[in-house]
Amino acid sequence: MSIDLKNLTIKKAHEALTRGDFTAVQLAGSYLKNIEEKNPSLNAYLEVFDDVLSQAEKADKRIKEGRAALLTGIPMAIKDNIMIEGRKVSAASKILENYTAAYDATVIRKLKEAGAVFLGRTNMDEFAMGSSTENSAFGVTKNPHDTSRVAGGSSGGGAAAVAADMALAALGSDTGGSIRQPASFCGVVGLKPTYGAVSRYGLIALGSSLDCIGPLAKTVEDARIIFDCIKGKDEFDGTSVDFTKELSAIPDTISFTATKNFLGAVDLKDLREQTLESYSKACDTLSAAGFHYKTAEFQGPTAFDYSLPAYYIIMPAEASANLARFDGVKYGLYKGGEALLDDYGKTRAFGFGEEVRRRILVGAYVLSHGYYDAYYNKAQKIRTLIKETFNNLFKEADVVIWPTTPTAAWKIGEKKDPVSVYLSDIFTVSANIAGIPAISVPFGEVEVNGKRLPLGVQLMASYGRENILFEVAAKLLKF
Ligand code: GLN
Repeated sequence: MSIDLKNLTIKKAHEALTRGDFTAVQLAGSYLKNIEEKNPSLNAYLEVFDDVLSQAEKADKRIKEGRAALLTGIPMAIKDNIMIEGRKVSAASKILENYTAAYDATVIRKLKEAGAVFLGRTNMDEFAMGSSTENSAFGVTKNPHDTSRVAGGSSGGGAAAVAADMALAALGSDTGGSIRQPASFCGVVGLKPTYGAVSRYGLIALGSSLDCIGPLAKTVEDARIIFDCIKGKDEFDGTSVDFTKELSAIPDTISFTATKNFLGAVDLKDLREQTLESYSKACDTLSAAGFHYKTAEFQGPTAFDYSLPAYYIIMPAEASANLARFDGVKYGLYKGGEALLDDYGKTRAFGFGEEVRRRILVGAYVLSHGYYDAYYNKAQKIRTLIKETFNNLFKEADVVIWPTTPTAAWKIGEKKDPVSVYLSDIFTVSANIAGIPAISVPFGEVEVNGKRLPLGVQLMASYGRENILFEVAAKLLKF
């Protein structure tokens, strides 16, 4: 039986499964076949699970009994930093290569309860540090639209899997853009929820005050279905909040704002013009759809001009603390030395890749006694200013619209200098710093050497207002 995976959405699959057009086993089988064909060249999955069909059989039983939830039997890919009990979870690092998760992340527990089928774990930048999966210890993920290019990162494997019909949807994590940026590079939808809207329990931590788990999907509606399943307060994550309780109403008139001089902070080369062109077309499309448009103009520099430097201080500071636990004693790889300190040194030097070591060093430095005020403290002050700047914008408009990325996907190996990769995060980090929800929607494309590369547009709303994002974002997608 052949299922048209290309045009399939979660909603359509759910309807077809409950109508009996095909079974969950047949659906999972179609994805497994695609994975078998495409994964050797794309490297989106690090592991395809051996129990996919038996998970699907359970889903079929549930569907037959008339107990199907929206996600029952839906084949999903899971980023390799989200724990599934009894499965390997490596954060694409050698230090955790053979580590097996001891419990389910809360999001996994919720998806299991809904009857979703997990196809496998997807590639990422090591410990989610990067924007291209080039920092994975297990090879780069290639972009399905042009295999000489990156799929984005750090959730590049999940984005590529959805774009290449190797999964109907995926879970990623986003600390500074890791869901939205690969979504944009691969032409899919990516949602970074409000900080705390989704439990972080069972996510391998990068920057704990920034990390969010969220969906990668083909439509805004699909992203919403997954978000609705995984969100909610969780007793295992003290920072989780039930935002949706108080803030559910959508205003009668939704307005959006484009901040005019947000590009000041970065030197945009290459595809800047196409990015700007598709960005202004997105603004026009929303105006035509009836949303009220305003332009925010700032006099002089804004706090957003400092988002990137602030992010690249706060995130490594938190990462260096979080990664201290990987010492060869409690988790994963162990390389023995002469004495305990030597064990730590050997294990970490061998187990961590270059970018991870760089960030641990930067993080330890900005937190060190002599430099704390000059870096970490200052970055925290900027964080407050960024939140205030957003708060002021949201007094004027419900949604702020920016591009997701300055350019389309770059060539594998093209960016040698880490700072040039950091610069590509210019539009995504602010939402994490402020904790607000943001969604990337495919909009427009650019042709490079005969290949059509997708571009993305990003919408942001204030705390807990995902509902507004879904409402507006849906107007940017044709289906
Ligand atoms: N690219 C950013 C970084 O390297 C964001 C990563 C992420 O969101 N996990 O830190």
